[in-house]
Amino acid sequence: MSMLLRMPLGLRLIALPILFAFAPAQAQVASNPGIAPVPIDATPEQMRNAVANARAGRVLTPKVWPGGARVAVCISFDVDNETLWRERPRPVPLSEGEYGAREGLPRILALLDRESIPATFYIPAMSAIVHPGMIPEILKRKRHEIGVHGWTHEEPSTVGDRAKEQKLLEQAIAYLTQVTGKRPVGVRAPSWDFSPHTLELIGRAGFLYDSSMMALDQPYELLSAGKPTGLIELPINWIADDYPYYEPEAAGSLPSTDGVYQIYKDEFDGAYRERTLFILTMHPHITGHRSRIIVLERLIKYMKSKPDVWFATLEQTATYVKQQQNKAN
Ligand SMILES: [Zn+2]
Repeated sequence: MSMLLRMPLGLRLIALPILFAFAPAQAQVASNPGIAPVPIDATPEQMRNAVANARAGRVLTPKVWPGGARVAVCISFDVDNETLWRERPRPVPLSEGEYGAREGLPRILALLDRESIPATFYIPAMSAIVHPGMIPEILKRKRHEIGVHGWTHEEPSTVGDRAKEQKLLEQAIAYLTQVTGKRPVGVRAPSWDFSPHTLELIGRAGFLYDSSMMALDQPYELLSAGKPTGLIELPINWIADDYPYYEPEAAGSLPSTDGVYQIYKDEFDGAYRERTLFILTMHPHITGHRSRIIVLERLIKYMKSKPDVWFATLEQTATYVKQQQNKAN
């Protein structure tokens, strides 16, 4: 993009569609190719290129889950806390994030202990640095996974520079590796946001899986420019998330949480019927509130009442998917 900005405007207007037409290839070499809109008179090639950066390849749902289970259930938390107010860090909203570490997480860990189920926690390095007690508390349980969720919860498409995005990703990996004693194998992009470089960078970093995309309801292989990346996608979606129902600003505007429970339950029932995967995404500062953790507790009890449900971390799920895939090849 810097090269583009130095061009006279007329040349830029000519160069943009050309850059755009070769977006996947440019993403490998340019420092910041930007994200161009699809022109209304796009050619078929431009249309295909516009969507090619990160796509769904083969479906990777195994014939059966471990122990003969018919569904894999992954409970996950994005431990965003104060990072959500990074750009305007005022004391009161920051305290809303602080709640995630002080009240939300302990309440969630206690529930997971009572129910003896594993979970995955995606933690921005900033959250862990501000609250250094969180990761030891999670690790103490010896049942949970910790995955990457940015350095300061920076949204990759706003970083604007491939080298900087790579540096922040490497810092986040190094920090979690040092604090947990294990290199994380899973990544969930902050705000589920990818730049044109993100897929390439997480592939280079050697992750086993990503959990930021939404093309299917079941595990799939991630493609870039039509080619397999070797990364497994364990997809999320906005429906099985707490944020859209309770935010913005946790204002309590939803009169009853029963509707949230019903939606989560219906999503689980569908996954159970289809013998695939149910991933729930929550945030300690949102679901950790007293009136909301009840929804999670009810849901866990309901899922446990059904036979053949496998509760797993996303790492366990991706590892199993990979093993089954290797057997099939
Ligand atoms: Zn987040």
